Amino acid sequence: MSNQIRFRVNGRDEAFDLPDPRTSLLNCLRALGWTGVREACGEGECGACTVLVATPDAAGAARWTAVDSCLVPAAELAGQEILTSQGLGTPTALHPVQAALASGGGSQCGYCTSGFVTALAAEYYRPGRPAGAFDDEALDGTLCRCTGYRPIRDAAHALPTPAADDAWALRLAEPVPARPAVDVTTPGGRFVRPATLVEALAFLRAHPEATVLAGGTDVGVGIGLLHQPAELILDIAGLPELSGVTLGADVVEIGAGVPLADLPARLQGRLPLIDELVPLFASTQIRNRATLGGNLGTASPIGDGPPVLLALGADLVLADASGERRVALSDYFTGYRTSVRRPDELIVRIVVGPAGPVHAFHKIAKRRHDDISSVAVAYDLVVADGVVERVRIGLGGVAATPLRAHATEEALTGRPWTAETAHAASRVLAGEGTPLDDHRASAAYRRAMLATSLVRFQRDNPAAEEGN
Ligand SMILES: Cc1cc2nc3c(=O)[nH]c(=O)nc-3n(C[C@H](O)[C@H](O)[C@H](O)COP(=O)(O)OP(=O)(O)OC[C@H]3O[C@@H](n4cnc5c(N)ncnc54)[C@H](O)[C@@H]3O)c2cc1C
Repeated sequence: MSNQIRFRVNGRDEAFDLPDPRTSLLNCLRALGWTGVREACGEGECGACTVLVATPDAAGAARWTAVDSCLVPAAELAGQEILTSQGLGTPTALHPVQAALASGGGSQCGYCTSGFVTALAAEYYRPGRPAGAFDDEALDGTLCRCTGYRPIRDAAHALPTPAADDAWALRLAEPVPARPAVDVTTPGGRFVRPATLVEALAFLRAHPEATVLAGGTDVGVGIGLLHQPAELILDIAGLPELSGVTLGADVVEIGAGVPLADLPARLQGRLPLIDELVPLFASTQIRNRATLGGNLGTASPIGDGPPVLLALGADLVLADASGERRVALSDYFTGYRTSVRRPDELIVRIVVGPAGPVHAFHKIAKRRHDDISSVAVAYDLVVADGVVERVRIGLGGVAATPLRAHATEEALTGRPWTAETAHAASRVLAGEGTPLDDHRASAAYRRAMLATSLVRFQRDNPAAEEGN
């Protein structure tokens, strides 16, 4: 069996003999000579290793998507098309993004520049972007270590639209290559990407020890930084059965493998809580890969998805090779990073019923972007005739598992939706869970943040009826 993978890099067909299924795209590209891709943090925090991948949007049209190449196993990109800063320009003919950065003083030591160039280029090529319009969020996953952000931002806001003969813009008129099934056995282990969910579940039944890989934004950190073993990787990213979003009359179903960045467009405003969650989740590069399936798969107590999905009263659909079962998310977590999911099961989709008209997601973290929550609180509220008819509150960061704030929900239900009610219930909320002291926050701080959150939620939504 061959250990060779093939893809297209900067318009050139490349073949690479994979030494290990864990080999990152970053290390693979550098081994192939594309050394403009830089390694810095190695954990998706700084964006120096950002490359662009041609991916389909909701309508199937191609776009250039920024991803952290340090987190993605190279085999995951087999058959796909990648663009790096070296492909964008040449030493004699700078790409407009490179020219803008150079002339605007947006690069000093140059270490992060390659990542800024690719992150800027993703926004430069965003279909429909008007000249001079630049979404600053496109830079939320790229860390500058010496230049300072003002000249970089100035360069970004001065970008023209791509010229009519721009090769990489023209490339977007072509379809994205289909993702081939992959099965490579390397000296260090095996990487398998089945073509269908049925094949994936059969493989998992035979190999429950396999490391399941979706976006890889957790798995990649585990492999790269924590040296976790992963000799057998089952890649489920892009499986069609996990990539759908269904908007029913009352119920919304979200495929476990939909990248977070795509959710707002795919949900068409049906779940505003998720629209609030997405921009606060990590960074552009991470959101372009991370999935809700992976967020729930880790069963982390500080994931941002669970509080939101708990507030939405979500159920999960788990599947194994014999069929499906449905589990309320509130029954899914069993302890610190454990869940009812068996090793031969996958989360296939998340099912959400009608959402209330009033909602909020409060993420308390040290930075607005690219940071993990110290405490996260999500609310879904229905008020009728000035009285709380139904409220669901999801919490993260205050116990070994994400949890519903049942005592607080009880303290609010049937009471007038007033500042007094919120103040009284905030004392109950401060007592929910068993927060710990750790490097992110003290237990006392977490309790104080819980109480403040509810008071703020009421203050922000004083006349909450029908979402007013
Ligand atoms: C820089 C950085 C910032 C981050 N910021 C945040 C943040 O702000 N908020 C936050 O919540 N998280 C954050 N994360 C963590 C991570 O991005 C999320 O947990 C993400 O949702 C994981 O999704 P993924 O598809 O990349 O999962 P993967 O890494 O592919 O998988 C994660 C785990 O879930 C399992 N898994 C994946 N899909 C399934 C499935 N369908 N069924 C069963 N098991 C599955 C995998 O086996 C693995 O154990 C951050 C990570 C990084 C590197």
